[in-house]
Amino acid sequence: MECDKCGEPAVLHAEYSGLHLCEDHFIRSVEKRVRRRIREDALVSSEATPEDPETWVIGLSGGKDSVVLTRLLYETFANDPRIELLALTIHEGIEGYRDASVDACIELTENMEIRHEIVAYEEEFDLRMDEVAETDPENMAPCAYCGVFRRDILTRYAKEYGADKLLTGHNLDDEAQTALMNVLEGDVTQIAKHFDASLGPFEETSGDDRQPRTENETFVPRAKPLRDVPEKEIALFAHLEDLPVHMAECPHASEAYRGEIQQLLLELEENHPGTRHSIMAGYEDLAEIAAEQYRQDSLPDTTDCERCGAATTNRLCRKCQLVESIHAA
Ligand code: SF4
Ligand SMILES: [Zn+2]
Ligand SMILES: [Zn+2]
Repeated sequence: MECDKCGEPAVLHAEYSGLHLCEDHFIRSVEKRVRRRIREDALVSSEATPEDPETWVIGLSGGKDSVVLTRLLYETFANDPRIELLALTIHEGIEGYRDASVDACIELTENMEIRHEIVAYEEEFDLRMDEVAETDPENMAPCAYCGVFRRDILTRYAKEYGADKLLTGHNLDDEAQTALMNVLEGDVTQIAKHFDASLGPFEETSGDDRQPRTENETFVPRAKPLRDVPEKEIALFAHLEDLPVHMAECPHASEAYRGEIQQLLLELEENHPGTRHSIMAGYEDLAEIAAEQYRQDSLPDTTDCERCGAATTNRLCRKCQLVESIHAA
């Protein structure tokens, strides 16, 4: 097959658009979609200036999505004095998995001369995910613990680094899966949170501003600049650009329901190309309405966690509860 734009051999046939693209036009099309998303989400605040730049923290795991995100942000903003990029890698303590991916992160950020920080569960909480998955004192999936710890680190360190935004590599497939899961679970609060956490524009463009759902000062707004690009295209981009990517899957991955949804979406997409895009277009509008409605709910009264000072409705925050129960096991 030939590229529809120039006649060179095609590397991709995108069913949802009908386009065949050569390597060159494919790379440019990914870059274009990501930059458009950055513009449409008004990611660069009008208040960011060379004298008072914004700090963007990139969640860099070493997997293809976050590696491609880091590369594209670097290409777009390395010479823009309004934006300072910092890559943050979390080391969960997973044998044979995380060490190799941390190496990929180091290689990438050294090539680009981006500031890179690594934070480990071991140093922060005195535990490793391998040990948590093994003892499992709360009888939950490993990812349920891991998610609490990761959120804690992201929130605290984003604050420490003076982050204005936290950017993650979620792609179109990830987002369509989350959207469908929220709808199928009938969880409107979750849909509202999803919007406020990472969908919609940052500043006044057509309607309401995107707002933090909580009054917690530590809230750092999130953005997902790859959310218009299908997973397969991210993988192809990483391959064609020869980026250092760590491919293995976490041995504790346990989101079985997401796996089912992923399979379902792949089948739907094959029979009805464009399904992921249309899910996200409709969902984002619905989620915005849900967010407006739910924001009016009063926020629960919180106190400071006795151990770490984080806002909580209990004596200890969720993270400290989990750390305590793991250490007691
Ligand atoms: S798959 Fe689960 S346990 Fe593994 S790193 Fe991700 S959240 Fe943590
Ligand atoms: Zn071409
Ligand atoms: Zn705490």
